[in-house]
Amino acid sequence: MKFSTYYLGCRVNQAEIEYFEEKLSKMGLENSKDGKADIIIFNTCAVTHKAEKESFRLIRKVFLSNPDSKLFITGCIVPLNKSLIEQVKQKILPPEYLEKSENIYIIPSTQKEKVIEIIENHLKNTDYFIQNNGSKINRFKYYIKVQDGCNHFCSFCIIPFTRGRSRSKKIEEVQSQIQSIAEIIRSNPQTGAEITLTGICLGEYGLDINTSLAKLLKSILPLIPDNARIRLSSMDIITLDEELMEVIATSDKICKFLHLSLQSGSNRILKLMRRNYTIEQYIEITNYLYKNIPDLGITTDIIVGFPTETDQDFEETLEAIKKVNFHRIHIFPFSFRPYTYAYQTMRHIKIDHQKVKEYEKILTKLSLEQSKKFIKDRIGKYYNVLVEENGYGYTHNFIRVKTNYSGNPKYMNLKITGIEEEKGNFAVASVNP
Ligand code: SF4
Repeated sequence: MKFSTYYLGCRVNQAEIEYFEEKLSKMGLENSKDGKADIIIFNTCAVTHKAEKESFRLIRKVFLSNPDSKLFITGCIVPLNKSLIEQVKQKILPPEYLEKSENIYIIPSTQKEKVIEIIENHLKNTDYFIQNNGSKINRFKYYIKVQDGCNHFCSFCIIPFTRGRSRSKKIEEVQSQIQSIAEIIRSNPQTGAEITLTGICLGEYGLDINTSLAKLLKSILPLIPDNARIRLSSMDIITLDEELMEVIATSDKICKFLHLSLQSGSNRILKLMRRNYTIEQYIEITNYLYKNIPDLGITTDIIVGFPTETDQDFEETLEAIKKVNFHRIHIFPFSFRPYTYAYQTMRHIKIDHQKVKEYEKILTKLSLEQSKKFIKDRIGKYYNVLVEENGYGYTHNFIRVKTNYSGNPKYMNLKITGIEEEKGNFAVASVNP
């Protein structure tokens, strides 16, 4: 029996898909290589209207070539509210296929374990023989979801409505996951590895179980093998505390890299977005971070075209970006998401899409300039780069580099020599041994 998986969107979705793949492989199911499968899992994204449309398109496409398969749809297009789930089904499937809908399971993000439960029950009721083949996925990038959900309710964001409130994985569970990964990494001493801790609101890790991200990191650092390092995924700036900054600054196992979503540089827009900081606070904290964490790299997300955003607001965003010195900016055109406060109160406001495109262009150019500056300021410096099979790799502070290497992913000590190429919103560094 074969399975296949699909995900869109963030690192959390990727970590969840890897979890499903590992569970199903251990049940003895085979990961299909040709798109034909008996069990198909989708972890969807609805963070923007475009991502949601892409999720629907992908599901329909895969469903049409696997009409008899069992389909599991989870992730952010699935609302927590039960009465809305039927609507999702109708939106996804062509009407002629709705009668097959007993094979389609739409499962809210908060109940993802149900996917495995249903598959286990299904296997028990068939003559399929379950065997634990102990499969170990041999790779070099690992994503561990340590936290899910969010308590913030930013006015543009659908996530709290689809993933629920913030919840953390117990420290012992994370430790045991790290131990299994460390075993695999140690058994391949020639191969380098990177473990990313992910969460929807990673900085809120521990609030519900009386601990913190700093404590989690301290507890797992001794378990990390020599040929591996830890990276932290996106965080909310206001959740960074002194203890966390100190662990990041002092451990050579943790990448000196933070992705801190700014969203806008205008206090007026930040207030409408219901973000919990002002631009002055944001700049003050990032200045403190640069001072205290050696050779830190910071990247960010910016939303363009938030309702009522003016040229003046956008100018303030550009100013803020220059002051903070982000070395890469991810740009998201605003779209109204259902259930959100912005949708409820502002959806009558017309978005000037032409202007949004212009803003996107300006920001992409600025992001590239800042990325080049970040690299140029580091010419002559040596970095331990995790170089992948395709010859590309990342420094701890998230500079993309290009080498001529091909082989198993491994750490190489390389000197930054200049700019190798430009890739839209960022530049790739050239290196020498
Ligand atoms: S902090 Fe805001 S943007 Fe981030 S997941 Fe929570 S509600 Fe969404």
